[in-house]
Amino acid sequence: MVTVPSTVAVIEHATHGLILFDMGINHHVADPEAAEAYWGPGPRAAYGAQRFTREHAIDAQLERLGHRPADVTYVIYSHLHLDHAGGMSYFPHAVHVVQHDELRHAWWPDRWTARGYAFNDYRGSRGYDFLELRGDADLFLDGTVTVVRTTGHTPGHQGVILDLGHQGRIGLMGDAAHLQEALERDVPMLSDWNVQEKMLTYGQLRALGRADVRVFLSHDPGHFAALPHDGDFWD
Ligand SMILES: [Zn+2]
Repeated sequence: MVTVPSTVAVIEHATHGLILFDMGINHHVADPEAAEAYWGPGPRAAYGAQRFTREHAIDAQLERLGHRPADVTYVIYSHLHLDHAGGMSYFPHAVHVVQHDELRHAWWPDRWTARGYAFNDYRGSRGYDFLELRGDADLFLDGTVTVVRTTGHTPGHQGVILDLGHQGRIGLMGDAAHLQEALERDVPMLSDWNVQEKMLTYGQLRALGRADVRVFLSHDPGHFAALPHDGDFWD
């Protein structure tokens, strides 16, 4: 048994406003009864989400950082699983950046992949402004935020590389790999959609490391342990 974080990155972009990478888990999951209605019976206990509290939801955490949900201009999703898309409904006026096939797959998953997605996360999102990508994208055409397609865990998984200027580049890679140890040992995850694709993505992650991009995996506790727990990571 390991305890892992389910992380959201808050990016204060100099010219494009407040950008989020991933959305974490929806606040309904903090309450056992509401969780059962929202996720259906089972997943809360299966994923060990009893540790998740109302204060962990991204709307509450943004408030703690002095931001309002309405300040968010873009949300970028690694993928639409229930621990990454949970806060989608908090940001109806943002641009939602997701791979085209991930969005399709979330709305109509295969029977054997459906349990990773929570329909309630996006059931009200038909009218949202989705920027549907079909590959890599230099989001603002200035090299600051580059989306890279990293499929395998899901059909349309993606990560982002942020250029922080003189502080170098970091890669927010979602569930492209779940743990550093898995990446180093070439071990996939039981719930991966396509192991062949995931292994090819592992190669991409290693290439990022060789290019001096510091990689953060959403669920690797070690990647976040050394960071400060309040305030800015970088400015
Ligand atoms: Zn995940």
